[in-house]
Amino acid sequence: MQATCSHLHNLPGTGGSETAPASHCAHTVRMTGEGSCHHPGDIHIQISPVPGECGESPSPRNLRSGSQSNTQGCIHGRLRSHSHNEARQPDDATMEPGENGSSSISEFRCLFHWLQKSLPYILILCVKLVMQHITGISLGIGLLTTFMYANKSIVNQVFLRERCSKVQCACLLVFLAGSSVLLYYTFQSQSLYYSLIFLNPTLDFSSFWEVLWIVGITDFILKFLFMGFKCLILLVPSFVMSFKSKGYWYMLIEESCQYYRTFVPIPVWFRYLVSYGELGGSVTGWSLGILLGLLYLILKLLDFFGHLRTFRRALRIFLTRPSYGVTASKRQCSEADDLCSICQAEFQKPILLICQHIFCEECITLWFNREKTCPLCRTVISDHVNKWKDGATSSHLQIY
Ligand SMILES: [Zn+2]
Ligand SMILES: [Zn+2]
Ligand SMILES: [Zn+2]
Repeated sequence: MQATCSHLHNLPGTGGSETAPASHCAHTVRMTGEGSCHHPGDIHIQISPVPGECGESPSPRNLRSGSQSNTQGCIHGRLRSHSHNEARQPDDATMEPGENGSSSISEFRCLFHWLQKSLPYILILCVKLVMQHITGISLGIGLLTTFMYANKSIVNQVFLRERCSKVQCACLLVFLAGSSVLLYYTFQSQSLYYSLIFLNPTLDFSSFWEVLWIVGITDFILKFLFMGFKCLILLVPSFVMSFKSKGYWYMLIEESCQYYRTFVPIPVWFRYLVSYGELGGSVTGWSLGILLGLLYLILKLLDFFGHLRTFRRALRIFLTRPSYGVTASKRQCSEADDLCSICQAEFQKPILLICQHIFCEECITLWFNREKTCPLCRTVISDHVNKWKDGATSSHLQIY
């Protein structure tokens, strides 16, 4: 068909891109004018991506700016049409433009239609799945709400400082310990607590959901454990441990918790990955399992070094307790009108930052738990945010 065509076809490689739009557009105009041109493939030119520019008379501006897109669009359209012609009847080819133009929409509509039709069946399946895993799901919801409640209470108590209620802290501690013990007592037969200390609990290692369940539960229990430590710190009277050093302890506990939780799921997942599965004891299944296990270990090792840096920084902060500034003198305080701009009261243990602004020690410590800069002039004072000094626990679920 290409060989017999007498028009100025712009085939790839034969025409320069500068002259392409002109020749193509001339062809289009002539074609629509004549009625005798009978190769249906060329009809496709009219649905090329830039039909508006094709129809225009070629001006010098169009030649320069639109030449590349025009050429590509038209070649594309024409190559498609010629290849279609080999397989299809000319009648079919005329049906093409509508379908082609809205193919993505019609695909979407098709998918939507399928979803609409199969929605009742999906719902039935969902209900069945929920019924099957009702224990696991309700347990997960229970653990999540327990975690959120305890986390919020601890942050509240830390925020209250001297006015925090010791009774509530003790209750929280008992609550966390009780729920952990109850959970492990309920699933005594599986000895889930083994996975807390890198041992493998007794479970079916070929079941993905069971492994996921174990890892999730262990993660929550570890969070509860470290939250319990935070409650203990809260219970320490303030004349033994100042509010400021308690903040450093919360930070250290939280960083250790996150660090430890990264490694706890390793034995369980490793056992799961190297287990034979459906391939049985064949060499392929065995070597694939080993390969996956090794890949997992390598990823975990990389994770280890990434976390090590964070942990060491936290440890350094904990040990050195860096100060944000120097103690301000009486004269400097009176120059600042003896008024802390955070608490709007007289300075308590005034601290002079490097930007010469003065704040109470407690006020500015609380501020730097969230920010890196001076609250007045935005000078960068600290190179990191002491995220976990407010007693919060990360809600990140370490499931891998
Ligand atoms: Zn032609
Ligand atoms: Zn203040
Ligand atoms: Zn400042």
